[in-house]
Amino acid sequence: MFNVEDIRKDFPILSRQVNGKPLVYLDNAATSQTPQQVIDTIVDYYSNYNANIHRGVHTLSQEATDKYEQARHKIQKHFNAQFAHEIIFTSGTTHSINLVANGFSSILKKGDEIIVSALEHHSNIVPWQMLCERTGAILKVIPMNQEGELIMSEYDKLLSNKTKLVFVNHISNALGTINPIEYIIEKAHQIGAAILVDGAQASPHLKPDVQALNVDFYVASAHKMCGPTGEGMLYGKEEWLKKLPPYQGGGEMIAEVTFEKTTYAELPHKFEAGTPNICGGIAFGAAIDYINAIGFDAISKYEHELLEYATQKLIEIEGLKIYGTSKNKTSVISFNLEGIHPYDVGSILDKMGIAVRTGHHCAQPIMDYYKIPGTIRASFSFYNTKAEIDSLVAGVRKAQFMLS
Ligand SMILES: *Cc1c(COP(=O)(O)O)cnc(C)c1O
Repeated sequence: MFNVEDIRKDFPILSRQVNGKPLVYLDNAATSQTPQQVIDTIVDYYSNYNANIHRGVHTLSQEATDKYEQARHKIQKHFNAQFAHEIIFTSGTTHSINLVANGFSSILKKGDEIIVSALEHHSNIVPWQMLCERTGAILKVIPMNQEGELIMSEYDKLLSNKTKLVFVNHISNALGTINPIEYIIEKAHQIGAAILVDGAQASPHLKPDVQALNVDFYVASAHKMCGPTGEGMLYGKEEWLKKLPPYQGGGEMIAEVTFEKTTYAELPHKFEAGTPNICGGIAFGAAIDYINAIGFDAISKYEHELLEYATQKLIEIEGLKIYGTSKNKTSVISFNLEGIHPYDVGSILDKMGIAVRTGHHCAQPIMDYYKIPGTIRASFSFYNTKAEIDSLVAGVRKAQFMLS
């Protein structure tokens, strides 16, 4: 049974005070907190079997290699990839996207078109703009509407035989919109384009099945799923990963090196040059075990309850406007108070121990669309409570009183 009070005991940070008040952590879309089970995994690694992987014959190196590869299998199973070698360890979503964008430098030609959405995080925009500069490819944008949803009829119009690649997020980090990626993937494939889905914001809330989605690339960050920072993954279909050239050269990614010619290692090592974040990969696996033990059905149901409760309470505040009102939404609420800068509200909330994000949330095009400098964003995880939402609402009312 899902019991939030029991779950909270797993997270040591949730019992600390901030500015003399109990911490109310509502910045989960930026990074999630870490349960004791994952912290223990990190301590265990450095206390007992810290060693470089895939290289040594000694026991420590073998233990570390086994645990690292076990973590890869956990991630494979979690995202339901067909093969473990389709999971590439990276330093996070940003790294994963750059890896793919770099690979497409050798595939795209001048005049080819690639499609992004209006709802993206900068890390799913800028690497592709850089790709366009290198190749002469053209970037097209799926527009959004006032509710913060992508307009699918406009997407249909952008697709043509010039389209080589589409990249969208599964869930918007700034607004919480769940995008119709099944439709987007199917349409891209109909005209022979590849598709990458940025799952950084979706992976903490739902369990994507990359084979059922039939997606070509899916990327995620461990630190938004109760894992450590600086760790993440790229899923790529085997045929695509074979086709793309390596991203970085170095140790571990080679089969044979001479000064005349170097041959590359097999997947996944072809994309894993140098000593990786070994502990981070193993801890990512532990985080996946942790959230699966709670279960995504229970997580989505509870988070949806939090979302409905918070939305209801917040819209009762006069002059408060929510950005992102799609029916298909996860537990993220972006809002502003009329006539008040989001930063000022965030500062007052911090004095009350309440952590929210203010600003453009690495998604400036969305803020430009709404003609605002930024928003206050409260994002809920399965370890948040209705009592914390009550604190947020009281804090927002207090900030409004003090600032107007
Ligand atoms: C957080 C986030 C990213 C960037 O992830 P990093 O871990 O900083 O690389 C990209 N896209 C979305 C939708 C995100 O929420």
